[in-house]
Amino acid sequence: MMDFNPEQSLCETRREFGEHGGVTPSISRSSTFTVLDPETMPEIFGGIRGPEKGGCFLYSRHFNPTVDILARYLSAMEGSEFAVCTGSGMSAISCTLLQLCKSGDHIVSSDTVYGGTHALLNDLLPQFGITTTFVDPTDPVAFKQAITPQTRVLYTETVANPTLKIADIPALAKIAKSNDLSLVVDNTFTPMVVSPLQLGADVVVYSMTKYINGASDLIAGAICTSKAMVHDLMDLHTGRVMLLGPTMDPRMAYDIVQRLPHLALRMREHSRRALAICQRLEQLGAVVTYPGLKSFGQHDLATALFNKGYGYGGMFTIDCKSRERADALLDQLQNKEDFGYIAVSLGYFDTLMSCSGVSTSSEISSEDQKKMGLSPGLVRLSMGYTGSLEKRIEQMERAARGVGLV
Ligand SMILES: *Cc1c(COP(=O)(O)O)cnc(C)c1O
Repeated sequence: MMDFNPEQSLCETRREFGEHGGVTPSISRSSTFTVLDPETMPEIFGGIRGPEKGGCFLYSRHFNPTVDILARYLSAMEGSEFAVCTGSGMSAISCTLLQLCKSGDHIVSSDTVYGGTHALLNDLLPQFGITTTFVDPTDPVAFKQAITPQTRVLYTETVANPTLKIADIPALAKIAKSNDLSLVVDNTFTPMVVSPLQLGADVVVYSMTKYINGASDLIAGAICTSKAMVHDLMDLHTGRVMLLGPTMDPRMAYDIVQRLPHLALRMREHSRRALAICQRLEQLGAVVTYPGLKSFGQHDLATALFNKGYGYGGMFTIDCKSRERADALLDQLQNKEDFGYIAVSLGYFDTLMSCSGVSTSSEISSEDQKKMGLSPGLVRLSMGYTGSLEKRIEQMERAARGVGLV
């Protein structure tokens, strides 16, 4: 279990050639697919034939050959039976939760989740009769105690946004198993670095908008899980992906397929640079949070759960204490030092940085922000890998001194 190697798994999966022997796959842009004889059509509708049963495709909202290539590679990367690609990370999350829960059901979720996910659980799903209890992601006992007879799902992010708290996935998986619940993990911050399905999760959801694509030029998502769950999601009568329709465009699938081969290299470099910058900032006396630092409260848990050889990810935070100093630091870093961009999102090759409380977590009330340990002066950085690391360290040091942070 601990020896899972996403790169090895990826290299053991069949590579797809293009038509005419192209070393890149061809893009199947057709919305609909013909059958050789009329009997095949009802067999596809009846589930007797399909993409893996005779290579029969029907309609691209259902399955598409190019999108399927990406799904196959993602399955290899996660060690899942199957995967579904979606038009966004939010649709991957919402379709998964709507598939697993119906009106009257209950979810126990980490209280430190992406703002959009928090809004979905806290504001939207109650309108469909699905309620959520929020608990501390670092406390498996809190998850256990919040379970009711109506609970169907335990939900968490591997590394929480933006506090970087780490969920003890094996402990949560054990609780989920013994209570017959599904453990759903959002692994957006740590593809390859962590393999939640290998640690016992039932479903992994991704925003591929971030690290997996890595170029900040598209919005996409994925659900990696069992074959049975994918068939449920694609069911012609009740499948949430099939009927709510967050379909991925095959051109987009192609773009991501072409970037997946260097995801491992990218993650290693994001990790290496984040660690170097954080170590320097810590030396200077700044309040930095990064799972790779010995001072990080859950450093040992991170070391135990993370796959070997990928580091601790590219995300870190600097607590500037006040909103004013956070703004001053962002201004210096972008406009004086060219260290990165003031922008939401993450996983880009350039550094992206934002003040979480007034950006990606602004859907969360200031009271709830305080409860989950989100300081108003918290700057979240997604460390890029452009330029030389030595220069980046100098830029950060000058900016930190310039605003009186150190
Ligand atoms: C961005 C993000 C999402 C939402 O993904 P979209 O692709 O923007 O829909 C969900 N979870 C996390 C952790 C994210 O960072």
